[in-house]
Amino acid sequence: MGWDQHLLTWFNAHQREMPWRSNPLPYWVWVSEIMLQQTQVATVIPYFNRFIAQFPTVEILAAANQQTVLKAWEGLGYYSRARNLHKAAQIVCNDHQGQLPDTYEGLQKIPGIGPYVGAAIASIAFSQPVPVVDGNVLRVFSRFWGIETDITKPQARVVIFSRLSPVIQAKTASNFNQAIMELGALICTPKSPNCTQCPLSFECIAFQTNRTTELPVKAKKAATPHYDIAVAVIWKDGKILIGKRKPDQLLGGMWEFPGGKQKPNESLAQTAEREATEETGLEIRVKDGFITVNHAYTHFKITLTAFNCEYFAGLASNKTTDEVRWVDPEELNDYPFPKANKKVVEAILAPKILAQTPLFEV
Ligand code: SF4
Repeated sequence: MGWDQHLLTWFNAHQREMPWRSNPLPYWVWVSEIMLQQTQVATVIPYFNRFIAQFPTVEILAAANQQTVLKAWEGLGYYSRARNLHKAAQIVCNDHQGQLPDTYEGLQKIPGIGPYVGAAIASIAFSQPVPVVDGNVLRVFSRFWGIETDITKPQARVVIFSRLSPVIQAKTASNFNQAIMELGALICTPKSPNCTQCPLSFECIAFQTNRTTELPVKAKKAATPHYDIAVAVIWKDGKILIGKRKPDQLLGGMWEFPGGKQKPNESLAQTAEREATEETGLEIRVKDGFITVNHAYTHFKITLTAFNCEYFAGLASNKTTDEVRWVDPEELNDYPFPKANKKVVEAILAPKILAQTPLFEV
């Protein structure tokens, strides 16, 4: 029995249950693969179930309002995925009669579907023998074949794709790809691969030559920058000002409180006041800081501090946003907020926090 058969036997015995595995409809596989980019399976499953319940068909997704789609994605991060999925659903409905193309090449003509998602849908939903090459697969086969190409370079993908292509068979394409991804997630993990439980260990070069910690070769990332951010929760007549980010910005279409990066020699309270005035044209008075949140994005980290602020003068304008609105605190949950701002919303709405002593006085 070859290594591919060992892999499939292992997968049959050890695969985890996932909603899109029990019913691999093209639309379900597509949504799941977009959600799984940069996100763990356990996090995705409840989002997937809610998303499919809310948008059960590609037609219903295409007809939905973008804000509704972003709200369903709230907390999952990388919101451009949601915006692109939504736009692509409209293209599938308008140009493809609501059906995803059933070939690897055809799938990649749909915006947002690249080689990785295209291979996943083609193999899992349409049994096309196309290897999926994601980070897990690069790691597993760099070790298994002893490949020393840096996996952050496109060449590594080309090498592994071409070596897997003759191995994958149409009748087992779906399980083959899912088995490798599952092995990478459960056994051949980045830090401490569990080689004694691995169905590939008998032929694995990294294991046989004691190089599992050396492979894969991966260039070190530059240090992630960190920013201190202050945001202003501006109160006026019991309402709070929020702004909608421009579509072409990071987190486009999501809502937020005015704010931004702290400058040198500026206190966080001064940052909140300056940013709020620059962004909205309002004069405000900063009162107290009430929550500090740490959050990591792909390329930077932030520590965000939110301040209660009193409206003083001016007419709120959308100088840097798509739109601004004064909303009742109870309405905040109707809008999609990115994660750090969502924590601020939760703090505003928690009765204990509303009544509590400020984190610090200004
Ligand atoms: S034997 Fe170890 S290093 Fe090799 S594929 Fe299996 S888990 Fe990974």
